[in-house]
Amino acid sequence: GLGVGIVGLPNVGKSTTFNALTKAQNAESANYPFCTIEPNKAVVPVPDARLDELAKIVNPERIQHSTVDFVDIAGLVKGASAGEGLGNQFLSNIREVEVILHMVRCFEDENITHVENSINPLRDIEIIESELIFADVQQLDKKLDRLKRQAKLEKGAQALAEVATELRAHLDEIKPVSTFAKKDDENFQALDKELRFLSNKTIIYGANVDEAGLLEENEHVKALKAHAKVVGADVVVLCAKVEEEMVALEEEEAEEFLKELGIEESGLKQIIRLAFEKLGLASYFTAGIKEVRAWTIVKGWKAPKAASVIHNDFEKGFIRAEVIGYDDFIAYKGEAGSKEAGKMRLEGKEYVVQDGDVMHFRFNV
Ligand code: GDP
Repeated sequence: GLGVGIVGLPNVGKSTTFNALTKAQNAESANYPFCTIEPNKAVVPVPDARLDELAKIVNPERIQHSTVDFVDIAGLVKGASAGEGLGNQFLSNIREVEVILHMVRCFEDENITHVENSINPLRDIEIIESELIFADVQQLDKKLDRLKRQAKLEKGAQALAEVATELRAHLDEIKPVSTFAKKDDENFQALDKELRFLSNKTIIYGANVDEAGLLEENEHVKALKAHAKVVGADVVVLCAKVEEEMVALEEEEAEEFLKELGIEESGLKQIIRLAFEKLGLASYFTAGIKEVRAWTIVKGWKAPKAASVIHNDFEKGFIRAEVIGYDDFIAYKGEAGSKEAGKMRLEGKEYVVQDGDVMHFRFNV
């Protein structure tokens, strides 16, 4: 369930963005033979300059990045919650992801029609986000019916029904679950865990601009950013078309290209890194001569669980971990130097792995 779903109105640049992500996946696919390629899913390497720095010291045969799953959720249109278009099926795809990348059209182009016939990011956002709220209302109403029946028999159901009723009133004002006042209430959390409310997911807005919009923030982007600030969401400005062209370029060419445009980092890369962070993920590293590699963990995982990402047996047979912080590994030019400087720590089962730790696990077979 730890993925990112791409949503947005038709003709805003979802497919173009998804194609760019898919190309980024394919460029690296030799490194990810375990990933089955699915038409609506891209398993995308997370840009991480630290891997290159580690590789400079270790000289491995290959480098492997952490990945984020992006899912293309086309077909979310006005009326989807009422069964319009491909409707509810798509809404259930959104239920599966933790983060939503909401693509918003911020470019003018007379040749590319807009379903609402004009460019207006805030209206577009309201259309999509209302559908998510309506879908939540439907789910919640079904649940409330069941709860009311159960409440006559069980106390627990009574408490759930109360919070559900309050949430229902909140949604009635067409406000998202994310702004519900009682999100800390354990009964709310139980409901959210079961129903996986669509309007409670973390949102990243992708402001799709044209090339001119990359150079100078246009009025649509300004409006979107103002809105995002109010609701506490992130905005990444990108030109999907440029991104799609750029993923085909060599690293150096791409950098040159960005420089000409006066941009520091491609919007697509920013989105990938931001998504990784918003999913609550982190990377630890292993640095061997065969490969320098980032391993994806959930923030807060302890050493044995983190080790299981490499191999299941590592968790069962875990003895201890040898840990060098990334900065130390770089400063003392590798494992030997770090050891000599006393920078290698031995950590046990309770150690919470930190982003950037260079790890070596000791385990029983
Ligand atoms: P979707 O329906 O949201 O998946 O939108 P598409 O990705 O298919 O894009 C719709 C049309 O807009 C296509 O013709 C794209 O080439 C075009 N398009 C996408 N991104 C941009 C952009 O950044 N600038 C311009 N001018 N056109 C774009």
